[in-house]
Amino acid sequence: MTHTKYIFVTGGVVSSLGKGIISSSIGKLLQARGYNITIQKFDPYINIDPGTLNPYEHGECYVTVDGMETDLDLGHYERFTGIQTTKANSLTTGRIYKAVIDKERHGDYLGKTIQVVPHITDEIKRNVKLLGEKYHYDFVITEIGGTIGDIESAPFMEAIRQLRWELGKNAINVHLTYVPYLRAAGELKTKPTQHSVKELQSVGIQPDILVLRTEKHLSDEIRHKVAAFCNVDYDCVIQSEDLPSIYEVPVNMQNQGIDTAILRKMNMEVGPTPELGPWKSFLDRRNKATKEVHIGLVGKYDLQDAYKSIRESLSQAGVYNDHKTVLTFINSEDITEDNVAQKLAGQDGIVICPGFGHRGIEGKIIAAHYTRTHDIPTFGICLGMQMMVIEFARNVLGYTDANSKEMDEKTPHNVIDIMEEQKDITNMGGTMRLGAFDCILRQGSHVFNIYQKEHIQERHRHRYEFNSDYIKEYEQKGMQCVGRNPESNLVEIVEIPELKWYIGTQFHPEYQSTVLHPHPLFLDFIKTAIINK
Ligand code: GLN
Repeated sequence: MTHTKYIFVTGGVVSSLGKGIISSSIGKLLQARGYNITIQKFDPYINIDPGTLNPYEHGECYVTVDGMETDLDLGHYERFTGIQTTKANSLTTGRIYKAVIDKERHGDYLGKTIQVVPHITDEIKRNVKLLGEKYHYDFVITEIGGTIGDIESAPFMEAIRQLRWELGKNAINVHLTYVPYLRAAGELKTKPTQHSVKELQSVGIQPDILVLRTEKHLSDEIRHKVAAFCNVDYDCVIQSEDLPSIYEVPVNMQNQGIDTAILRKMNMEVGPTPELGPWKSFLDRRNKATKEVHIGLVGKYDLQDAYKSIRESLSQAGVYNDHKTVLTFINSEDITEDNVAQKLAGQDGIVICPGFGHRGIEGKIIAAHYTRTHDIPTFGICLGMQMMVIEFARNVLGYTDANSKEMDEKTPHNVIDIMEEQKDITNMGGTMRLGAFDCILRQGSHVFNIYQKEHIQERHRHRYEFNSDYIKEYEQKGMQCVGRNPESNLVEIVEIPELKWYIGTQFHPEYQSTVLHPHPLFLDFIKTAIINK
């Protein structure tokens, strides 16, 4: 018998209410009480993972240590709680069906007809319980993507219904809804919440806790009304008002006792309320930071969520430098030789963003050239690092036709080339160089001084790499290859030591920056940008 408790987080009324933030906050609060927790997400789409999805469709693709390409909510889970998620934390309808179909082809079902119920629902249940049974967490929080009533989420709802029946007090449902404010009537409306709960009840799930998203404070009267109409205890009707930062949410949830409500519902001892000391000092520092540091994000995806982890890492690093990070998106497609000075004007530092494909790369190269020749702190991440390398080849090494093989198959100066093991790959999904790899830093280099250690591990997501045939030329001319993979010798970091801060990483440091453990590269980059103001 397992001692693991399961919390299912579902959503109703509309999408984008912040189930990921609520799940992360619940995780954070239980963790503060000494429990070992993990958070898992089920996405109801058919893709095996979001790796092949355009960022416009789905925002950033977040990569776990073990190389799973996942939904950006996993980034919230890690940033809030400091846990490391894995493949087992991210599932989609596609992955569930694939597992079932593979088993069917293998003959595992012994002649049975394979159906959504019980085979698909059993596979969902297996993946929920796996975390509890295999890794012995105290709490497994499972967030279900989408909104109750969606056709695609029906098998997940049925699986939750069954699990709650099987697990009794060891499983609860937290349902997140929206209470709109009608300006013309001057009223907050609870009807959508009532309908959403009814929908949930119609598939056999009674919510234990309701979290109501609202732009205005909800009176006790409204909460009483929701409690009465939805069969939920009054103290289990929690409100989630708009707050200045997502990082305020755990404190707000704790003040309303969401964690004690969860423990009581599960017949667990409640005990004293934890302090959340370091978390509150982060918030305090954040609120006090009024001086601004301006960072330009040079990229092609004009969408907040596309560079989510980079944005979060930069603003966390701002807080730890007692500054407010003001981020400006600068579309690389619009950058030309003629307007680059004006486009980058007023920025204390520039991040050249990751990405795939040809669109917008010339603008990134022009930006890298401008910041290098004007000594503006510059951080190139993945494709951004590759663009720094190409710029240097074109303008310093004199190879005006230098390029990445990704962009120009026939370039005679392929300073960025496809990795050997990627050459024969034709399948696009989950086949990049993914997950955490070791990297050895050169003693005395800028990055070594920043990390204060020689051996690091960072997460990757790419097919192309720095072509090591050119290392000597680069180093002679001033761009140093200061981070190398100990097994393959791949170049993972380049820097120009003569400049204030000109560093490119083939990996994505943003995946490892958390609220309580901000990443040293972002901290130092922001520090330098502030000095550079
Ligand atoms: N497109 C580049 C590659 O595959 C960079 C990828 C990225 O920026 N994540 O190598």
